[in-house]
Amino acid sequence: MASRILIIGQGLAGTALAWRLWERGVPFLIVDRDEPVTCSKVAAGLITPITGMRLTVSWRYAMFYREALRFYRQRGKQLRQRFFFPRGYVRLLKSEQEVTKWQKRRHDADMQGFLHPREPKLSADVFRDPQNGFQQRHAAWLDTTAFLEASRRFFDSLDSWRQADASPSEVLDDANGIDWRGERFSHVIWANGWNAAQHPLLSWVPFQSALGTILTVKADLHGDKRIVNRGCWLLPRNDGTCRAGSTYEWTFTDPNTPSPEQVAQLEATLGTLLHTPADIITAQSAVRPIIKGRQALMGTHPTHPRVAFLNGLGSKGSLRAPWLARHLIEHLLDGAMLDEAFDLQENDI
Ligand SMILES: Cc1cc2nc3c(=O)[nH]c(=O)nc-3n(C[C@H](O)[C@H](O)[C@H](O)COP(=O)(O)OP(=O)(O)OC[C@H]3O[C@@H](n4cnc5c(N)ncnc54)[C@H](O)[C@@H]3O)c2cc1C
Repeated sequence: MASRILIIGQGLAGTALAWRLWERGVPFLIVDRDEPVTCSKVAAGLITPITGMRLTVSWRYAMFYREALRFYRQRGKQLRQRFFFPRGYVRLLKSEQEVTKWQKRRHDADMQGFLHPREPKLSADVFRDPQNGFQQRHAAWLDTTAFLEASRRFFDSLDSWRQADASPSEVLDDANGIDWRGERFSHVIWANGWNAAQHPLLSWVPFQSALGTILTVKADLHGDKRIVNRGCWLLPRNDGTCRAGSTYEWTFTDPNTPSPEQVAQLEATLGTLLHTPADIITAQSAVRPIIKGRQALMGTHPTHPRVAFLNGLGSKGSLRAPWLARHLIEHLLDGAMLDEAFDLQENDI
């Protein structure tokens, strides 16, 4: 039986978990370091059906998207603030090879629900080579910072949010439950992003996290609010700025300082996308939690059933966190079986 549940980390994963507990009327405490720069805070929040160099539909997209749409809209209504913005998404093709690949892919059955019937018709005054592309539907972006802040205020108003750095050594799993600084819980859920790689109970999980750099820029897009991608994506936000990104670095020393090379690379790619000048306002970096060979991982520890994890959201935390969080909470509260694709206890990790 769950009494009160401790969640460590208020990124997209921990926040979705807390909301799922709140929906079920289960008390919780969510603890976060409250760092100014985290993966969830710098993320662009893009939710994109057709992605990558292979131009395929993102794995289980419809299932995750339906749940995300409902979840963020409910939260928005409840908190009287909009965080979730469905948007047209134009993918421009960057080479003859990509054009050829797309000519084949565009007829695949699973694409059809995501192809917008209209041609993108981007302005040639704003974008370079705006032909050769297609527009997607059922794409969106989540204002992650606003969502996390509003959620935090709500949890705080319930006295269910705490600023603290919770180290694994002070979260004690004794015979009767979990103890953290004298407070008692039935379970702890670690949702602390790439930092979980340091957790002694997770030393066997193959984390392969990647540093990402993202820019905030000012550019005149003639009022076009669609997301556009060729080599990098450009997301016009409601405050008149755009986000542009993002890079992947598999080896890094400083998790929160963008390297001049990555910034220069993004700036150069933006230059091949835009005619309009893009003035950089800020560059930010953070680490995406990635687990080798997995789309995400969750469940309870094999020998510590009160200790649970949700991690490895990679570059799709906005899309997947609502579904994953509900799934884990149903597992903890109702004993529902975990989908084996995400089950931490599957032994072929
Ligand atoms: C540049 C960049 C761009 C991205 N763009 C997108 C995008 O467009 N769309 C998308 O869906 N995803 C994007 N992502 C990925 C997305 O941000 C991640 O999937 C998501 O943020 C992971 O969330 P998380 O909650 O697992 O981890 P985190 O965001 O890292 O959250 C972990 C939290 O735990 C806290 N914490 C850590 N250890 C402790 C401790 N011991 N005690 C207390 N608190 C602790 C941290 O301070 C943090 O708040 C992007 C990521 C980057 C870096």
